Amino acid sequence: MKRIKFIGVKTTKIYCLPSCPAKAPLPENIVYFETARQAEHHGFRSCKRCFPDFPYGKWIDKGSSVFLTPPKEFDFSQCLKFLARSFKEPCHAVEEGALFKLLKFDHKPILLKIRKPYNSNLCIDFLTSRPKKSIRARVAKYVWEWFDLETNLKPFYRMAKKDPVLKHIAKNFFGLRILVIHDLFEALCWAIIGQQINLEFAYTLKKRFVETFGEKFYFDEKVFYLFPTPQTISQQAVSDLKRLQLTGKKSEYIIELACKFKNNEITKSALLNDDHFETARKKLMHLRGIGKWSADYVCLRCLGDPAAFPVDDVGLQNAVRQQLDLNEKPTPEEILRYATGWKNWQAYATFYLWRSLI
Ligand SMILES: [Zn+2]
Repeated sequence: MKRIKFIGVKTTKIYCLPSCPAKAPLPENIVYFETARQAEHHGFRSCKRCFPDFPYGKWIDKGSSVFLTPPKEFDFSQCLKFLARSFKEPCHAVEEGALFKLLKFDHKPILLKIRKPYNSNLCIDFLTSRPKKSIRARVAKYVWEWFDLETNLKPFYRMAKKDPVLKHIAKNFFGLRILVIHDLFEALCWAIIGQQINLEFAYTLKKRFVETFGEKFYFDEKVFYLFPTPQTISQQAVSDLKRLQLTGKKSEYIIELACKFKNNEITKSALLNDDHFETARKKLMHLRGIGKWSADYVCLRCLGDPAAFPVDDVGLQNAVRQQLDLNEKPTPEEILRYATGWKNWQAYATFYLWRSLI
């Protein structure tokens, strides 16, 4: 594959694609980067004309719709199946093969309908008024990341084909991708809400939490919600959350977390700037209410750590038991032994195993 270089302009701290239509900078002000992430790491912001942080040539902008060209190893319906696993899910809706999602950019709500016509690209329609181009690009990037379309799954399938635990599910759920929870606050809250209760009750609590504290938006006689902001949650009392049937401890953890986010004591970009996911994981575990399982879960669903592996997860243990037809759930140590061939694909293996339980 051709490697695209990125051009940073030292004076403006903005980086561009070489093909950017903006006026060329003076050569002495130019600095080159291999990747967009590297540019961001050095404090450069992406240009609002050429969108260098978006995968080159992978999005087609048609104004009221945006199209994404996904890799071959992508099956939208497999992903929808996972997203539709609970009808109580309050932050998106799946209806007749399409996915509806409310987002907010620059203080404006944007309602998306995402669908994939047969043999065609992934299509994002804007149901609210057409946003400006820079917002359309951000939406495209959001959806690209949501479905983890940047990851090349070929090596995963090559490995899984020969793996006793993964061989069936890799084939049956071909094209499924990790569905990313972008918002770190949401991912952490979800991890806390879900501790020590079953998934169904976790969804009940999430629904109450979102419907009570999240911003809502009406469209076509339907109501769509945004996940509550740290700002809103930091102002609540423990009793306000307990009323939803969250335990006192969980309520405390969530409010404390909201305060940390509000004060910028914790940000996703700071965690991603750590050189190793292990450092990020340790930092997460310093938060009250975030133990090993929660930190692993957030590394998997939000931070994109390919080796995130919540071996203590009961769902994961049950899924492995099913795949190998074992009499009992394997222990975390046994799971680690089964997973010796999964290096840097532990997160995907786990996600496929979770999918097998739906
Ligand atoms: Zn540019």
